[in-house]
Amino acid sequence: MSYTHNESIANTKARESPTFPLPARTESVQLPIFISESLVLLFNYVENTGIFLREKPLHNAMNQKQRLEIFDRLATAIPDPTTELNYSSAFELLIAVVLSAQATDKGVNKATAKLFSVANTPSDILALGEAGLKEHIKTIGLFNSKAAHIITLCQQLLDKHNGQVPQTREELEGLAGVGRKTANVILNTAFGQHTIAVDTHIFRVANRTGLAPGKNVREVERKLEKCVPKKHIKDAHHLLILHGRYTCIARKPRCSSCVIEDLCEYQFKTGYQDEGTERKAKPLS
Ligand code: SF4
Repeated sequence: MSYTHNESIANTKARESPTFPLPARTESVQLPIFISESLVLLFNYVENTGIFLREKPLHNAMNQKQRLEIFDRLATAIPDPTTELNYSSAFELLIAVVLSAQATDKGVNKATAKLFSVANTPSDILALGEAGLKEHIKTIGLFNSKAAHIITLCQQLLDKHNGQVPQTREELEGLAGVGRKTANVILNTAFGQHTIAVDTHIFRVANRTGLAPGKNVREVERKLEKCVPKKHIKDAHHLLILHGRYTCIARKPRCSSCVIEDLCEYQFKTGYQDEGTERKAKPLS
């Protein structure tokens, strides 16, 4: 339906009813916000279900000795496994993670460097107001919906949690703009709990390697929780994300320089001169 048609309907309704609440101009301003909010919901759904992630799950043939060796090697290669988002409190991390959906950590860090220097508590951000907050985050995708969520989230923190970030999944998921993945990141990174937030990188690595194959993110999360060796469970989330982000990248994984290449069960390893030759994993007995 075109804007002109909408406008004509709105004007007709306005003439018919003096109390009609949405004049045509307001409707046209709200449309982009409605679209961006719908996109956020869609992206969150896709991220939480993994329905468009096309890595083909492998049969679950890997043994625990191989898994331990994989995590031992990743832990050696990535000595400081942590988030690449900049933060100095649980609240700052929560805001940064909410902003990071469908955005790069670099872009979020650039915006939050200025935002947190003027407002890094729930009441500071509420004092900025939604319009003031948008000014600080307008370089980040879907900033309109994210600003609305953050304002509601800050009010919820003050009303229900004494201004503090709660430490349970249930309470975190009750906050505006916070889904299972964001809650898992906060529980793990801010509070040291043994959660694994399965994002697109972890989903890909878990399936390609055969570490914890699954058809959707919940299945992969459940399997990882069961099979990650205890000594690595706290850092598993960041080890797998960083491995996926810099080595096991989506389009052309850097298999020839991968520290777990001989343990990985992926059938289409790349990055070699003689590409196309199948390189099979050598299981540890
Ligand atoms: S060998 Fe290749 S596919 Fe396997 S984990 Fe390493 S980069 Fe990923």
